[in-house]
Amino acid sequence: MDPHILVIEDEDALSTLLQYNLQKEGYQVSVAGDGEEALLLADEATPDIVLVDWMLPKLSGIEVCRRLRNRPATRNVPIIMLTARGEEADRIRGLDTGADDYIVKPFSMTELFARLRAVMRRIRPGLVDDRVTHGDIEIDRVAHRVRRDGEEIHLGPTEFRLLDYLIQHPGRVFSREQLLDAVWGSDVYVEVRTVDVHVGRLRKALNMDGKDDPIRTVRSAGYSLDAK
Ligand code: CA
Repeated sequence: MDPHILVIEDEDALSTLLQYNLQKEGYQVSVAGDGEEALLLADEATPDIVLVDWMLPKLSGIEVCRRLRNRPATRNVPIIMLTARGEEADRIRGLDTGADDYIVKPFSMTELFARLRAVMRRIRPGLVDDRVTHGDIEIDRVAHRVRRDGEEIHLGPTEFRLLDYLIQHPGRVFSREQLLDAVWGSDVYVEVRTVDVHVGRLRKALNMDGKDDPIRTVRSAGYSLDAK
C-alpha cells in the first residue's frame, strides 16, 4: 500500500503544491490546515509519516508534535518539521519534542523527497527506489553516484538533483520555471538563466566521450530527458 503522509500546513499555496507533488511521487496524502484538524485526521487514520509546519494557527507545530508523541497510535510515527530560516533555537526545541528531522523553508521538492526517502528507508525498507536507471544512465541516490554505461560521472549537487528529477519523468518537457520550482525550490529567487547553466553542465558531464545527448532542448518550451 502507498505510504500515507499527513501534511499540516496553513499556507494554502504550499499545501496544494505539497499535495500535488507527493501524490505524483506515490504517497497517499491527507492535508490539515491547523493542528486540531491534524489530530482529528491522525485519529481517523494513522499516518506513516507526518510533515508539520512550525508556525500554525491554534496549536503550534511543536504542540502537535508533542501530542502525537503522547498518543499510542502515533508515538513512533516519523515527524518532519518545516521551519523558516533562522529559527535555530526553534529547530532544536522541535527535535527535543519529538520531531525526527526538519527542513528549512524554502525547500525544493527534490530535497523533501530525499528526506522522505531517508525516513521511508528506515520504516519501510524495500519500498524505496534508491537506484534509478534510464537507458545507460544509473543513479544511486544513497551513494549520490551517477554512472553512464558503467562509467562513473561526477556531478555537482544541483546537476545531481536536476538529473534525478528529469529521470523520473522521461519524455516530459519542463519549462525553466518548472525546473526552478522542482530543483531549486519554489520561493527561491534564482534567475531563469541559471537553469540553462546547470543543464549545460549536466550535459557536458553526461556526454563525455562523445556519447549521445539524452537531454532535449525544446525551443521556447524548456528541457526534457529523451524517453528511451
Ligand atoms: Ca505556517
